[in-house]
Amino acid sequence: MDFSQLNKKSAKSFNDQKALIKKLSQGRVVNCPSCQQPIVLSLSQSTSNRAVAQCQQGCTFIELDLA
Ligand SMILES: [Zn+2]
Repeated sequence: MDFSQLNKKSAKSFNDQKALIKKLSQGRVVNCPSCQQPIVLSLSQSTSNRAVAQCQQGCTFIELDLA
């Protein structure tokens, strides 16, 4: 297995997730690629600077630490 490729891929998907969260936080509408429902962003700043982006069906679920 080529670990350098694997790391690149996960880094890219992490950046994709950050870009998605950024779009949502700017009030832009992003649809889930699977169910085509809008992805909703929720922020929980009480526990930590954590952002959760998920669609209604739950096929997209992204949890990111913003700190
Ligand atoms: Zn979905």
